[in-house]
Amino acid sequence: MTTKDLADLIFPNITKTVDDYEKMYPERGLKEGAKVTRYAPSPTGFMHIGNFLSAVIDYVLAKNSEGVFYLRNEDTDKAREVEHAVESIMKILKNYDIYPDEYEYENKIKGEYGPYIQSERKEIYHAFIKHLIEIGRAYPCFCSKETLEEQRKNQELDKERTGYYGDYAFCRHLTIEEQMSKIKEGIPYVIRFKSSGDFNKKFIFDDLVKGKIELPENDQDIPIMKSDNLLPTYHFAHLVDDHLMRTTHVVRGEEWLSSVPVHIDLFRAFGFKPPKYIHIPLILKKDEETGNARKISKRKDPEASMQYYEEKGYPPLAVIEAIMTIANSNYEEWHQAHPESTFIEFPFSPKKMSSSGAYFDLEKLDNISKNYISTLKKEEVYDQVLSWAKKYDPSFANLLEKESLRSIAIFNIERQQKKPRKDFVHWSGVKAQISYLYDQYFFEDYQKTYADITEKETIELLKKYANIYQEYDTESEWFEQMKQFAIQNNYAPSPKIYQEDPTLYKGHVGMICESLRHVVTGKKETPNLFQILKIIGKDGLLKRIEFYENGN
Ligand code: GLU
Repeated sequence: MTTKDLADLIFPNITKTVDDYEKMYPERGLKEGAKVTRYAPSPTGFMHIGNFLSAVIDYVLAKNSEGVFYLRNEDTDKAREVEHAVESIMKILKNYDIYPDEYEYENKIKGEYGPYIQSERKEIYHAFIKHLIEIGRAYPCFCSKETLEEQRKNQELDKERTGYYGDYAFCRHLTIEEQMSKIKEGIPYVIRFKSSGDFNKKFIFDDLVKGKIELPENDQDIPIMKSDNLLPTYHFAHLVDDHLMRTTHVVRGEEWLSSVPVHIDLFRAFGFKPPKYIHIPLILKKDEETGNARKISKRKDPEASMQYYEEKGYPPLAVIEAIMTIANSNYEEWHQAHPESTFIEFPFSPKKMSSSGAYFDLEKLDNISKNYISTLKKEEVYDQVLSWAKKYDPSFANLLEKESLRSIAIFNIERQQKKPRKDFVHWSGVKAQISYLYDQYFFEDYQKTYADITEKETIELLKKYANIYQEYDTESEWFEQMKQFAIQNNYAPSPKIYQEDPTLYKGHVGMICESLRHVVTGKKETPNLFQILKIIGKDGLLKRIEFYENGN
């Protein structure tokens, strides 16, 4: 009996060989230096900000080098699979405009290197496992969970390294005849890799973020195929896929770093060149209570989920910009020097990534988002607020549509000027900032606040003012008229003149404006009052003064 007999017994129907697959998925023939990257999520839950960081880096690396970015669905852990997880990932990638070039979704395959769903690649994995068995680098293992558990406990008691290796790898020492007869008896088994490594020997691994690190060789005979559904484990599947899909750079979380010796051992068994690895650091935040850095946690921090940014209504590009600043700390500097360039053109350098943990700070995101929103045109703001509201605040969306001209005018306040307004941070905050400009909300929410001029005087003054207010004045005409109005009513035309001798005046023009602002907006602070008056118009002004007097 030979290893070939064993391989044929286990995989009688697998006829294609590793060589056949090599021919089916040839080198990609891209230009020199082009990078092939992949985002390879397991569909086991929501998209974590750390996954997003790796997807953005994948995208930038590929686009920057005229390479390929593809999506691979790593669904071999069927027990942990969550419905709609892939759908939500695809939506996020689309929304952020970092859509993969190759993928498989809704029964369509785009790209020549598929299938891109691991559970559909079973036959390919089996051919590769069959090959390992044939060359004596994999074998069936019949040890039950209980046996393995007991062995682990004994190893712990004896202060030995735990695991399935060397003499502890019991089934590695069975003869082929024994292995075959157990299979024929129907005893369940997994397939294990037969490691050739020596734990006491070290090798140098060059991680593109962490640099050269010394790691012990792997000597564990890890499972590469599970017994129940005959699907491969992550370690094995990623190797086959990254090889056949001709991946040049693997960007993944640093939790995988400890598995590198296993992966290198596997690549060597096949004689394949491993891709380059970029192990990205954990994403950290400052703990509100202790002030110390800690990992962003799925459980404690809503901002760990990409859903958070959508619900809050951060513009996708602002989130990407914030993510880029943690990918490389010189990103902002680069962007200032290249204001016309997009993040795709950024020369991302793994070496410049923090290897000990990357801070993600919501305050920073808010700043980036504010600045970004301030550069948008009024129509762009309108479209983005509307599309957010359609999903998260339908009644506000209706109003935006019903009063589209007014809304666009509202978004034009202090926009497209030298110092544009920067008070919109995200779309979910916009309604509260502009609601007073719509009668529907204004009359519901109005609350009197303190102003320097008494209520009675305010009413008298503003009734007079409403009569002379000219809707079509320019801003300087408007302000000139306001000053004249102040003088006529015994108010100084500027605070400075008032201060020179306050006994001469009832107050100054600023106080009238403050009262006017208070009556027409219900707020102490607002953007430019002239522009606000233009939006509510003369009729609106009269209505609001009357409401102040009677309705409130
Ligand atoms: N499916 C793995 C995960 O979601 C991917 C790791 C990798 O990118 O290789 O963690």
